[in-house]
Amino acid sequence: MKYFKRFLIILFIVFISLVAKYYDDYSFSTNDFSNVDGNLIVNFIDVGQGDSIFLEFPNGKNMLIDVGEKSKSELVQNFIDLKGYISLDYVVGTHPHTDHIGGLENIIENYKIGEIYLPKVIHTSKTYENLLSKINELGYKVNTAKSDMIIFDENGLVVKILSPIYSEYSELNNYSVVIKVVFGNTSFLFMGDAEAVVENEILREVNADVVKVGHHGSGTSSSDEFVNSVNAEYAVIMSGVDNQYDLPDENVVNRWKSSGAVVYNTSVNGNIVMISDGNDISVEVEHESDN
Ligand SMILES: [Zn+2]
Repeated sequence: MKYFKRFLIILFIVFISLVAKYYDDYSFSTNDFSNVDGNLIVNFIDVGQGDSIFLEFPNGKNMLIDVGEKSKSELVQNFIDLKGYISLDYVVGTHPHTDHIGGLENIIENYKIGEIYLPKVIHTSKTYENLLSKINELGYKVNTAKSDMIIFDENGLVVKILSPIYSEYSELNNYSVVIKVVFGNTSFLFMGDAEAVVENEILREVNADVVKVGHHGSGTSSSDEFVNSVNAEYAVIMSGVDNQYDLPDENVVNRWKSSGAVVYNTSVNGNIVMISDGNDISVEVEHESDN
């Protein structure tokens, strides 16, 4: 009888560990990349001096990060319409400068919107106030973007906010919503206009295959330490032809190049499209560059 009891206890332990193992495997397999099919398509839309990035996820959903100046909103809409989307699942305005959110009011008016993400920042420009009241008028609510927020995580695709971490920064650029997208074995980092202060705060999470370089390739961003930590295969600079700020900064371009990244620039390459199948990334550009 004593041995039988011991036998029962052992049997029970074996049973429990088998159940535990099953659940382990199960929870792993739901996030396992092998379940994923389809591609992640990242479109860097050439909006001149400004940012606009349209992401098409393998699950059919999409995300728009910034729209450039108001004068570019039609161009962005045409781009989205040509792809056949009538709604936007996730819309992110990285920060209140017009070269990022200028066209956002028109976008919000013209599409059915899922979720809107903006940083919590007090900014009283007419453009930003108009945007906020349009969002309000249409009955949408704003999700305040904060570090460590997971926008979603399913089937090998994770969209995470890395910054803002703090509630106050001295530069408006540093309120930029920084987003990391991981799809299978590939990863993309979108820096908005975040400067070196922010780069330094998020350093341990920035490693990525593709980076949308912060602040149009300005010397305020892309510090040596950051560039080396990202260790990107491709660096994308979004800037306008003959822009008044003379961006990108030549030193910044060289910094990315010497880190081993292939550098693309919307002012040279026009629209830049990157397609990830979860393992490899292919690149298509509107105009090939000479170098
Ligand atoms: Zn900007």
